[in-house]
Amino acid sequence: MGSNQPVDDLQLLGLLKRAADDLGVKAWIVGGYVRDHLLGRDQPDLDVVVEDGAAAHLAERFAQLTGAGPPVTFERYGTAQVTLPGHLVEFVSARAESYPPDSRKPHVRPATLDEDLGRRDFTVNTLLMDFEGNIHDRLGSARADLDAHILRTPADPIQTFNDDPLRMLRAVRFAAQLGFDLAPDLVPAMRQLSGRLVSPVISVERISDELRKMLLSERPRLALELLDSAGLLELVLPELAACKGVAQTGYHTHDVYGHTLLAVGLTPPDLIVRLAAVFHDVGKPATATPEGAFTGHEEVGAGMARTALERLRFPLKEIDAVATLVRLHLRPVYYRSEWSDGAVRRLARDAGAQIERLMALARADIGASAYPEPEKLDELATRLATVLSEKPTRMAAPIDGEDIMRALGIPPGPAVGRIKERLGELIMDGEIEPSREAVLAYLQSHSDL
Ligand code: ATP
Ligand code: MG
Repeated sequence: MGSNQPVDDLQLLGLLKRAADDLGVKAWIVGGYVRDHLLGRDQPDLDVVVEDGAAAHLAERFAQLTGAGPPVTFERYGTAQVTLPGHLVEFVSARAESYPPDSRKPHVRPATLDEDLGRRDFTVNTLLMDFEGNIHDRLGSARADLDAHILRTPADPIQTFNDDPLRMLRAVRFAAQLGFDLAPDLVPAMRQLSGRLVSPVISVERISDELRKMLLSERPRLALELLDSAGLLELVLPELAACKGVAQTGYHTHDVYGHTLLAVGLTPPDLIVRLAAVFHDVGKPATATPEGAFTGHEEVGAGMARTALERLRFPLKEIDAVATLVRLHLRPVYYRSEWSDGAVRRLARDAGAQIERLMALARADIGASAYPEPEKLDELATRLATVLSEKPTRMAAPIDGEDIMRALGIPPGPAVGRIKERLGELIMDGEIEPSREAVLAYLQSHSDL
């Protein structure tokens, strides 16, 4: 081994078995891998539960056998990770863990295997697979829940969610990813305990990681609806919760909240587009007038999206992209066939690298209302493709400030920038050809620019 070839699952099982046999250690694959295997879903990452506190030991032996680098161990949590090409294998000593009400440091103590399984989040995550590939349902009800597509807590949901409030978000996330129903006692327990989902007990990173997975799932709209019914939406995305009941007229068939959910449901599985759909109209409550206008909601909303995503500690690059999309979301929606090529180029320039996402957002936005002529976006897409493939491009001036100063014999100063901008506009509008010679010639004959 030791090559970069992805390791296949049978090889993995064989190596795990050898490592466990070498050490005389008892261990099983548990959780997502087993669940997804039985559901026929791909799952590259493996969790291995190990008896008698031997997780680090087994991880080390496994790493030796596979030629992987040494395991990364987290002593405090009794876990050790080994990375193989295409897989992350996490070894965990059987344990019981809970988050005390006032601390983000979980209480961790060694436990028996059955105790460990009984303290996991959902029954469908307690199924074991031994290293021969046999499935074991030690709880006795996990297999039935899996077959019935139900998320049920092994213990009383109040206790399960109290021990680690993040599990409430995991419930929503698994429902959205797997299409499973929540057992009937889950949402009432969530409503009761929603207030516990606050930092510092639950770190922002754990929360936004779940949010990310929900939005990337096959059912992002369901995720938002479940968050709402569980009383969690106002904690995680208060900006969206504030859109509830905000009425709108015109081509709209729903209030701002209902429209937003519809739009999210119509987006492709791209995190940035989906976040932008979530936030695209959050500026409406603050800009609503009695006449039903929301003037400037896209600018206000872009600022709110930025604040929200900073609070959720999203990476700056993602925040910038989402804010750009929210700020520009009306532009393609307002497209008309009469637009000049210059107007199409300006849209392409303003959206920059986000242009395709902006179009996807616009399609979702229009699709989520009774807006007429959704086909006009196809026409815009064709025109965008044309201006984007122009060679040379008309979206950047082929000269710089130095050229302008030299040609006009003027010193550095704000005028240079203004002239450069003006030239750029004229090129975009097709008034000047996009070549150095043409621009310099234009400058010579238009010293009043
Ligand atoms: P995925 O890897 O697709 O996110 P998973 O079920 O494997 O899903 P992990 O976070 O990898 O989830 O955790 C592995 C297993 O550990 C879970 O299946 C579950 O049994 C248990 N587990 C993880 N996080 C928690 C938690 N917060 N509370 C209880 N059990 C948990
Ligand atoms: Mg996993």
